[in-house]
Amino acid sequence: MAGTKALLTLENFINGKFVPCSSYIDSYDPSTGEVHCRVPDSGNEEIEAAVEAARAAFPGWSARSPQERSQVLHRLADLLEKSLEDLAQAESRDQGKTITLARTMDIPRSVQNFRFFASSILHHTSECTHMDHVGCLHYTLRAPVGIAGLISPWNLPLYLLTWKVAPAIAAGNTVIAKPSELTSVTAWMMCKLLETAGVPPGVVNIVFGTGPKVGEALVSHPEVPLISFTGSQPTAERIAQLSAPHCKKLSLELGGKNPAIIFEDANLEECIPTTVRSSFANQGEICLCTSRIFVQKSIYSEFLKKFVAATRMWKVGIPSDPSASMGALISKAHLEKVRSYVKKARAEGARILCGEGVDTLSLPPKNQAGYFMLPTVITDIKDESCCMKEEIFGPVTCVVPFDSEEEVIQRANSVKYGLAATVWSSNVGRVHRVAKKLQSGLVWTNCWLIRELNLPFGGMKSSGIGREGAKDSYEFFTEVKTITIKH
Ligand code: NAD
Repeated sequence: MAGTKALLTLENFINGKFVPCSSYIDSYDPSTGEVHCRVPDSGNEEIEAAVEAARAAFPGWSARSPQERSQVLHRLADLLEKSLEDLAQAESRDQGKTITLARTMDIPRSVQNFRFFASSILHHTSECTHMDHVGCLHYTLRAPVGIAGLISPWNLPLYLLTWKVAPAIAAGNTVIAKPSELTSVTAWMMCKLLETAGVPPGVVNIVFGTGPKVGEALVSHPEVPLISFTGSQPTAERIAQLSAPHCKKLSLELGGKNPAIIFEDANLEECIPTTVRSSFANQGEICLCTSRIFVQKSIYSEFLKKFVAATRMWKVGIPSDPSASMGALISKAHLEKVRSYVKKARAEGARILCGEGVDTLSLPPKNQAGYFMLPTVITDIKDESCCMKEEIFGPVTCVVPFDSEEEVIQRANSVKYGLAATVWSSNVGRVHRVAKKLQSGLVWTNCWLIRELNLPFGGMKSSGIGREGAKDSYEFFTEVKTITIKH
């Protein structure tokens, strides 16, 4: 292919070394639609090599004290922070997100993931109970599980990868990570820092390629007893099937169809800009994004008018434009899928108030083939519509009215997902009541996406199994034993 030589070509990172692969897949720049890098198309062979390296590194790494491992994580955090601008540029180009978001959220959070687990690993204690009547004391002991298989998605590439790597290695495991084949560049850049940080060879192995090929090879490997996966529900089903014969430990962080519930006593000055952000940040490609907005009838018209006006101010631009609020979607196929939902809504008789098919998007000539789309607001739509039930994972949100608290709770809970919800009200009692009744792993009231990493993160129903966070990740990445001493 003409021009192939100039392309960035990634290599797997196994046993502390970059290793070329026998075949590669093309990775596209979402803002132009052009191939911008080549990603290893790994399979069984690469997984075998990574397992061998991770197995050999495990005894040494797991025998280190938490303090020693913590120092390595801190050094890695410092090195990532020094490379923040390069990493942000690469993430923005590879994923299509704005440079501003990559600079202010993705890369700082990746740094924080290592700092956070470097610290939290120092503070765990175990349980102890006494049975004096039989002269016994019991205590628990936690040990790393072994080789952790980590699979991450394309929407927050380095952010979500490091959210798994950091707790896994902090607890003393060795890892084989597989980032999304659509966004592999920053993971590869991080590999360049591992040796300087003091991560021994084989402790972190990164193998690139597609889900069905290298992802399944990793999940099916009998020597990988644990899989931490973030991605879509259909892929989780496949991973659960492949893991079942080995009884693997599974953590599944999946999709959402997140409601925002806006009561008539909400502070609209704060609610509207935050709900625009919660609907369209990162092109709506965050599992926590709002996609169903329920507004109490008495303020419905006012809300809708102000919300649409604020959405029209949410600027779509090329990712490198620091004034852009939103960049390009991840791929052509994904853009078409997101657009098809708007088309279906229109065919069902819903009204599209702004965005797709209503407003015009103007882009520089070199970005005409990029995967851009305007933030889109849909209304007059039934709760049974696929746009109100299925995860669209793009810049599309639906706004519908409601009458009462009981009714809105029931409607918010009527989808198969249960990841995140937001509630807007100045009535403290109502906020607590509604939060308690929502079937949702996370509820933000009068705010969105304020994360406390110490506390559990994850969803219920089809949004996943398990939780991540200081204690939850530690428990997942370790095996617990109960020991009884008779004295
Ligand atoms: P995806 O399921 O297509 O892919 C996720 C990862 O799994 C990728 O690395 C992919 O290569 C790999 N994969 C695909 N098929 C596989 C297989 N058969 N075996 C093993 N691995 C396989 O998801 P995506 O499109 O990359 O990400 C979007 C989805 O992720 C959305 O549903 C979103 O809600 C979800 N998500 C959830 C969270 C959360 O924390 N709950 C966070 C971000 C994204």
